[in-house]
Amino acid sequence: MRNETLMQYFEWYLGNDGIWWKRCAAKAPALAHAGITAVWLPPAYKATKQDDVGYAVYDMYDLGEFDQKGTVRTKYGTKEEYISAIKTLQKNGVAVVADIVLNHRLGADETEDVMAYTVANNNRNEVTGGEREIKVWSKFTFPGRKGKYSKFVWDHTCFTGTDWDENTKQGGQLYCFAGKTWEQQTDAENGNFDYLMGCDVDMDNPEVVEEIFKWLCWYIDETGIDGLRLDAVKHIKFDFYKDLLKRIRKEKKEPLYAVGEYWSGDIGCLTNYLDTVESQMSLFDVTLHYNFYNASCQGAGFDMKMIFDNALVAYRPDKAITFVDNHDTQYGQSLQSYIEDWFKPLAYAIVLLREAGIPCVFYSDFYGHPGLDRPAVPNLEKLIMIRSRYAYGEQHDYFDDFHVVGWTRSGDEEHPDSGLAVLMSNAEGGSKRMYVGKQFAGELFYDAMGECTEPVRIEDDGNCTFYTDGGKVSVWIREAAFKDIEIDG
Ligand code: CA
Repeated sequence: MRNETLMQYFEWYLGNDGIWWKRCAAKAPALAHAGITAVWLPPAYKATKQDDVGYAVYDMYDLGEFDQKGTVRTKYGTKEEYISAIKTLQKNGVAVVADIVLNHRLGADETEDVMAYTVANNNRNEVTGGEREIKVWSKFTFPGRKGKYSKFVWDHTCFTGTDWDENTKQGGQLYCFAGKTWEQQTDAENGNFDYLMGCDVDMDNPEVVEEIFKWLCWYIDETGIDGLRLDAVKHIKFDFYKDLLKRIRKEKKEPLYAVGEYWSGDIGCLTNYLDTVESQMSLFDVTLHYNFYNASCQGAGFDMKMIFDNALVAYRPDKAITFVDNHDTQYGQSLQSYIEDWFKPLAYAIVLLREAGIPCVFYSDFYGHPGLDRPAVPNLEKLIMIRSRYAYGEQHDYFDDFHVVGWTRSGDEEHPDSGLAVLMSNAEGGSKRMYVGKQFAGELFYDAMGECTEPVRIEDDGNCTFYTDGGKVSVWIREAAFKDIEIDG
């Protein structure tokens, strides 16, 4: 078995040139060679405008096929190009994870006059005004698609509420439609966090749930995707995805992979969600991301022994998708909390070279982001390669110091030249004696990061003193592995 490595193959600020799917296809062999086993692609369906990242969903049956919202293609290309990119990635051994955005819809075709009551923005359980008629953009007829694939018309009965009255043209006020209440089983921020944006899809409406199920069957059949990245799960009643995932796996008779985005720095919220959905999906490890963020901002003031404190990967290693940054934590985005440059190699060593969790590498960390003046993370490609080839076997942890921490992997029979030792420091450089394995007695280990230029020799009892420079990470690998990586990386 080879280590899995997921890559988020997009970022927020991509150009609206319509060639993204083609680029994905063209990069498939390089990604496979680099050790990427799956990519998460951005939302592929028609949004409110062509240059939308894809989260302002208009029509989920339009993957860049119909002339709607003033465009046939999406920001990323046409449906044909999307499907072709998926097939090419899969042919190269790279699985494809699709971004699934079900919480809300925007850009309705018609308005409706609807009775609604107002609620407080910071406590959505608090009713602030009685029912009155408002004019809302809530009717989706998809005139450009003309009923192809589905004749379902979305109207206000499919939604719970919105934040715009076309009569007064004033935003910022939350409206819940008469006779409805927010879904009760959501994140508890703001009293109830069912509502996020646009028209909030009503998962209490069985017709809506049925239409979404039909759509997902269609989407899987049409595109052949391998997995799902589920957007904004904390804003959707928890039973919805539990039931949907069980049903779709039964219907499709395959272990459809799923990872949810539950954005919360509270480990209790994450584990409660996993328990409630009966672990039907994995979750992104948001708590670990915030530990990285704090460590990167605090420098030597951060206790590296605490790096896994409250991290999902420590609580539910089998369900954690670890990551360093993503399109939402980028500079200028809603959840801006990007990891400082100096710490990124340390963070990536942590997500890539340890036993627990499946790592998700961010596109802009891999390629850099000139527009935001952020460089590619040094040696990231090497770290991914080392994960894919050598990060196997038993793990020995040495998180026993405020600054200098590390771990080793013993390697295994199945992966030639596997086994390694990692040492990092968030202050001065240092060293640590760690056990890597008696089977390596007498062997030389080299620092693949190039920080330490002299090799170290493993002692007869399998221990060795390894070194790291200040604010750096050193990854010590076997001589044959070191030569191999130098050629390939
Ligand atoms: Ca919702």
